Amino acid sequence: MTPSSIVLADSRCTIHAHVSLADMTTFRVGGAAEWFIAPKNLEELQASYAWAHEQKLPITFLGAGSNLLISDQGLPGLVIATRYLRERSFDDGVCQITAYAGEPLPKLAWQAAKRGWAGMEWAVGIPGTVGGALVMNAGAHGGCTADILAEAHILDADGSIQILTMEDMAFQYRSSVLQQHSQPVVKAVFQLHGDKSVKEVQATTQSHLNHRLSTQPYDWPSCGSVFRNPLPRTAGWLIEQSGLKGYTLGGAQVAQKHANFILNSGNATATDIFTLIRHIQHKVEENWSLLLKPEVKMLGEFPQIP
Ligand SMILES: Cc1cc2nc3c(=O)[nH]c(=O)nc-3n(C[C@H](O)[C@H](O)[C@H](O)COP(=O)(O)OP(=O)(O)OC[C@H]3O[C@@H](n4cnc5c(N)ncnc54)[C@H](O)[C@@H]3O)c2cc1C
Repeated sequence: MTPSSIVLADSRCTIHAHVSLADMTTFRVGGAAEWFIAPKNLEELQASYAWAHEQKLPITFLGAGSNLLISDQGLPGLVIATRYLRERSFDDGVCQITAYAGEPLPKLAWQAAKRGWAGMEWAVGIPGTVGGALVMNAGAHGGCTADILAEAHILDADGSIQILTMEDMAFQYRSSVLQQHSQPVVKAVFQLHGDKSVKEVQATTQSHLNHRLSTQPYDWPSCGSVFRNPLPRTAGWLIEQSGLKGYTLGGAQVAQKHANFILNSGNATATDIFTLIRHIQHKVEENWSLLLKPEVKMLGEFPQIP
């Protein structure tokens, strides 16, 4: 019989069996992790990561779960949620923020604004963590993670820390090298600029937040934009022109306020959302001969839909 938890000898941290992941994503859907831990410090992260390697288990990292669709069948192996790895420091002399993987982006954006440090205003409305931002090259309002990253600290399976520079990260639109080599982000150093006033940086930050609240449906569970924008068009425009605004499938709905958002209107399953994603792709391709590429990361097994 599988035990319900395992205590790792050295770090004394506990790895739990069969933990529901639905509440760990902003879509609020998904099955259970075979094994799960949310490390509270670097030692627990090192120990659990090493354990999964020894056991030859698949490993999945989770930040705030704000860009994830996890299947209803859940995930095999160990899921490591880094959202509680929180610590940050501010180097006033050089306008640098050092933040652990679990630090929320909006909090950092406001802390930077309070100091009058420019460069992170775009992050105020992105409900993710530092770890997810580095993996996704999160961005908005013309700015992104790649613009401000000085160093990324990544954990190796032997417990050592590797420091990656901007160049090592190979950032592209909503992508970085970390999408190819799944290793945990431990922390990041961000370089901001001290050439603006506190008032100016706070005003830009607030105006970005106001804009997002007025144009995006923040009051319902979602993953933000589901598809990448096939520039020069936006995915939202193509979906709207395909007549899909408000289209509902089970508990999943194309948002009225922003057609590139799919909302969990209360009782959606991951399969509902996945099926709606495929339906949108099919309709847009039919109308525009263009296949929309998902920005959301889909983890686990989903039904085959032709
Ligand atoms: C309402 C809403 C608005 C949004 N607006 C934007 C936007 O404007 N711009 C934008 O870019 N995104 C946006 N997003 C999507 C999302 O917030 C970003 O992609 C964010 O960077 C994801 O961060 P996360 O911590 O939630 O990562 P998760 O969604 O948990 O994970 C994303 C990826 O990062 C990996 N990961 C997470 N943490 C770690 C770690 N510590 N080590 C290694 N890998 C890790 C995961 O394995 C996964 O591959 C929005 C989402 C919502 C819900």
